Amino acid sequence: AACQIGMYGLGPMGRSLVLNLADHGYATAAYNITADLTWQLMKVPELPGLVTPFFNEHDFIAGLKQPRTVMIMVKSGSPVDQVIARLLPLMDPGDIIIEGGNSDFRDTARRLRAVNEKGVMYIGTGVSGGEEGARRGPSLMPGGNREAWPLVKELLQSIAARNPQGQPCCEWIGPEGAGHFVKTHHNGIEYGVMQVIGEVCWVLRALGLSNGEMADTMDGWNRHMKAFLLEITAQVLRANDDDGSPLLDHVLDVAGAKGTGAGTVVSALDLGQAVNILAAGVAARLMSTNRPRRLAIRDAYNVPEPVLSGPLEEWKEKLGLALEAAFALAYAQGFTTLEEASIQYNWGLNLPQIASIWGGGCIIRAQILNEIAAAFTADPKLDTLLLAPAFVECIGRGVPALREVVSACVMAGLPVPAMNSALSNFDSMRSPGLISASVIALLRDLFGAHTFQRVDRPGTFHRDWQRDAAR
Ligand code: NDP
Repeated sequence: AACQIGMYGLGPMGRSLVLNLADHGYATAAYNITADLTWQLMKVPELPGLVTPFFNEHDFIAGLKQPRTVMIMVKSGSPVDQVIARLLPLMDPGDIIIEGGNSDFRDTARRLRAVNEKGVMYIGTGVSGGEEGARRGPSLMPGGNREAWPLVKELLQSIAARNPQGQPCCEWIGPEGAGHFVKTHHNGIEYGVMQVIGEVCWVLRALGLSNGEMADTMDGWNRHMKAFLLEITAQVLRANDDDGSPLLDHVLDVAGAKGTGAGTVVSALDLGQAVNILAAGVAARLMSTNRPRRLAIRDAYNVPEPVLSGPLEEWKEKLGLALEAAFALAYAQGFTTLEEASIQYNWGLNLPQIASIWGGGCIIRAQILNEIAAAFTADPKLDTLLLAPAFVECIGRGVPALREVVSACVMAGLPVPAMNSALSNFDSMRSPGLISASVIALLRDLFGAHTFQRVDRPGTFHRDWQRDAAR
């Protein structure tokens, strides 16, 4: 019998999505460019009978019910273009391609136009939640040809996670590459928040806590923050090596990255958004990579390990408040970028719905997303989450603690770039006057005649700096 959907690409994500689809009763055609991964899938114990393997592209496409739906789940970048180029000649007008990799949203817009020329519809969807999410229920962010949405809505929503309110974590995001853009900025928040968590762990270590005590502390905070990333931090802190010693103590201090964070910073900067918390997360990972260089510098400067002291319970309370404030500032920064993209690209993004989609299945799911959804529902024109009452309350309460934590770390030589960025983001935004910006305005006017504005008069001004110099 004809399959309802075809999955092209059976790496960790494609394979998990195939099993998820079959679990939900969808007859699924499975294809991978090398047969090895297809055979691996077919050897999965208790493989549902609804999965049919294919070993050439022609048969794979021919095995699909019309109009055909093909999901591509391969390495992002040129492999996606190569796969589309191979599949498109085999497809007919009215068929649908869904591409679910971590694609650049501009590539998605370009591919959509090319595929549409053949009458085939195109959806670029963000998929979050990693391999386990893909298997048990990811958060899905589809965008592209809206006319394709009614045809795939039921299927995509059925395999998606449910948020705590029981709604599917999959809704239509917007046109062009909107789905992939939103996924990218989900990852951007993830970068910032993970760096904050890493810094908090280091602070706890510098206070002398064991890994188990650190995990217990995370669990305590997580009782009300309900953040998946805090939950899995407690899990990794508790993990032991084969000999029973803490795994963390054996792990090299090098954090990997595939470049998505850097791309996300660039896409935010293109929109005029500072995203300094996300950027701090990206930079921190980059600084970790060249370990030989770091060790040479460490030896040249010969500085001791950072140590923090003071009453432990007070520290934990302050750190908890600082963590909450830094989380709020990181999520707010991500949502501001989405809001700006929606305006500049005319996407009509539904921000409360995006918060609700992220409420389950994805890596950044957390209690704070309920407050974000509520804030944008209460005031759809809300300019920034920093002005939402729940945020004013949380950040107002947490910032004094964040300030104390950052100061103590700076004095101890313990780097906290993400917490520091969150704090300077807040201090810049709430400052009565940015003297530094006024100085820069004058410097730019002096060397480049870029003009400046005044607080006491409207208009733009340029000073004759030569005349000053001549005096
Ligand atoms: P990979 O990103 O490692 O991609 C592997 C798959 O791509 C394999 O099936 C591979 O086939 C195929 N592939 C690579 N090059 C080509 C090509 N030129 N033509 C055809 N197929 C090709 O696997 P993942 O499953 O981890 O990820 C798939 C996509 O999902 C990526 O874009 C990734 O960024 C994204 N993603 C991944 C997440 C994760 O947690 N892993 C989470 C969310 C999204 P073969 O091995 O036979 O060459």
